[in-house]
Amino acid sequence: MTDHFNPYEMAKSQLLDAVKALSLDDRVYEILKNPMRVMEVSIPVRMNDCSVKTFIGYRSQHTDVMGPTKGGVRFHPGVTLDEVKALSMWMTFKTQVLGLPYGGAKGGVIVDPKSLTERELEELSREYIRSLMAIIGPDKDIPAPDVNTNSKLMGLMLDEYDRVRGFNVPGFITGKPLILGGSLGRLEATGRGVAITILEAVKRLGLNIEGLKVSIQGFGNVGKYTAKILVEMGAKIVAVSDSKGAIYKDTGLPIDQLLKFVEEGNRVSDFSEADRIEAMQVFEVDCDVVVPAALENQITGEVAKKIKAKVIAEAANGPTTREGDQVLYEKGIVVIPDILCNAGGVTVSYFEWVQNKMGYYWKEEEVNNKLQEKMVSSFDNVYKMYELHDVHMRTAAYMVSVGRIAEALSARGWIKEWCMPFKCKE
Ligand code: NAD
Repeated sequence: MTDHFNPYEMAKSQLLDAVKALSLDDRVYEILKNPMRVMEVSIPVRMNDCSVKTFIGYRSQHTDVMGPTKGGVRFHPGVTLDEVKALSMWMTFKTQVLGLPYGGAKGGVIVDPKSLTERELEELSREYIRSLMAIIGPDKDIPAPDVNTNSKLMGLMLDEYDRVRGFNVPGFITGKPLILGGSLGRLEATGRGVAITILEAVKRLGLNIEGLKVSIQGFGNVGKYTAKILVEMGAKIVAVSDSKGAIYKDTGLPIDQLLKFVEEGNRVSDFSEADRIEAMQVFEVDCDVVVPAALENQITGEVAKKIKAKVIAEAANGPTTREGDQVLYEKGIVVIPDILCNAGGVTVSYFEWVQNKMGYYWKEEEVNNKLQEKMVSSFDNVYKMYELHDVHMRTAAYMVSVGRIAEALSARGWIKEWCMPFKCKE
């Protein structure tokens, strides 16, 4: 991992690549290169020992050209303003690869949630929402879970929002508990979407999902469900890591057993049915697909050189550095870019928001079928662009996405007298 790496610079250069590849007007880049709004808040929390501690939090809203902004909230000691800004940009591009009526947002608080008691964490979550009241809401900016936040915290954040507003607004936040208007299928949606895109990629490469060997970095919400659904599809998970270590089994890990083991509060590396390996070896093991599902900047140039897989499925946001990307491209490894690969979560969040607005709730099968349809058609759009323009899959995904935003900017009168070489709805 490289510490000096700046994800915001990377997001801007990815945008620029797409603008150039589409021969778009410079004004598209000028409008989209910065988030439209960024808020920094200082959040005081009454600690259990009677002291008060303040935590720094951010919310970045990239653009509302396509609709209200939408994006997760992460609690992590490594959160930075540039990271949150980059993540909000990636959310815009992600929602537009999928054609959802949103722009991107992201929130983060600099905190190690494990260092807080349950009550302190609840207070932090509630105060974070209070401090953002002026800029969030179901038609303005809709939060969701991300690293170290979950459905339970979304329930608390919703309660805080409802208390301040004085009435129930279930569409204010997604990824909340079912009882508060959450959607069936949301918990596993990101992992399901990752698995669907892997299936689409391997089909195009002439590989078979049956017996496909997959290695996964990170075994949180995304990593776990990706593993579970891939195994249901017939693949084998040969390696898995978490922040403390990794395990390997050439014949395939018993995923149901591992899931149960981890859900009981154990570390992946303590699982006795497999060999222990170094955490970063998940990228080097003999396999067909590598799934980074932890944090950004994991696949550097050096790491990419050691990868033997044919496909990288970017379940995490921004897991590959620019150097890493170049090495993967030169090695002919197909990268399913994050803005496409992990878009299942925001897609079902969108379904959740739609259901909240209707006040009418779908069966799980209906949600999964709609997700399948969206992911497959979006993969197809990106793959066609990739073949047509002979660019990186990542650039192809940005081209689909930025093409849509450019069309909207034009329709809103921001970009006049221009010709658009690509219309995304064709
Ligand atoms: P999570 O907190 O549930 O899990 C993160 C996992 O990564 C944990 O198993 C943790 O131990 C592991 N990890 C952390 N640092 C690591 C390291 N250095 N090496 C190996 N493992 C490490 O988070 P999540 O919700 O699964 O999110 C993972 C990634 O997916 C993030 O990049 C997030 O932005 C992205 N994402 C999440 C969703 C979602 O719906 N949860 C949607 C889209 C994208």
